[in-house]
Amino acid sequence: MIRQDTFKHKGLRKQMVEALRAKGIGSDAVLRAMEEVPRHWFLDSALDMLAYDDRALKIGCEQTISHPSTVAMQSQLLDVSPGMKVLEIGTGSGYQTAILCRLGGRVFTIERQKGLFDRTRPLLASLGYHARCFLGDGYQGLQEVNYGPYDRIIVTCGAREIPEALMAQLKVGGIMVIPLGEQQQEMLRITKAGESRDLWREERFGVYSFVPMLDGRQMA
Ligand code: SAH
Repeated sequence: MIRQDTFKHKGLRKQMVEALRAKGIGSDAVLRAMEEVPRHWFLDSALDMLAYDDRALKIGCEQTISHPSTVAMQSQLLDVSPGMKVLEIGTGSGYQTAILCRLGGRVFTIERQKGLFDRTRPLLASLGYHARCFLGDGYQGLQEVNYGPYDRIIVTCGAREIPEALMAQLKVGGIMVIPLGEQQQEMLRITKAGESRDLWREERFGVYSFVPMLDGRQMA
């Protein structure tokens, strides 16, 4: 089904972007991408007019789309340049995936819930976002097929610890952005300056609240 993108939607999106700028998001590339991608297309049509508020919303399978301000912050920290290979853990609605595509990334994204995977993969394709979508446990990274290592890795669910497999699939010189913690998470940016752990640099960017990163694949 083709969803509309009306002047009303575009106006609300402009306001959302101005609010993000006022909150300190300074990356023009990120702000442009967020002005271009219609967030309401990734939500149930009943939520159309809420899509540009800075809030998380239900997307089914007990999951939520992240706040626009969280997507903006993670995208800015990730610092994607066109052509980079980007791995996303937690496809969910596909909104963050679309932003990464808009930033020029070659995007690989993993979702553990079949219900979301089955809905989001065709949605992204129909909207012209060329991300490769996989059903699997992103804690392990992308194991079945070897597209790595990646320039950038973004985790969009709360992780109890830094997944070793993900660090192994990150290029030297690469960046991973990951919310770390159980009830609440601290936003961590890890720069992998070398293979050995003492060369991983960690920076922290405030506290967030994400749905948890869970083990295994959920087929129901
Ligand atoms: N980026 C998404 C965020 C969705 S919420 C969006 O903008 O809509 C986080 C998502 O991570 C959920 O869809 C959840 O099912 C998924 N997830 C949780 N643990 C996972 C894992 N181990 N592997 C892959 N996806 C996971």
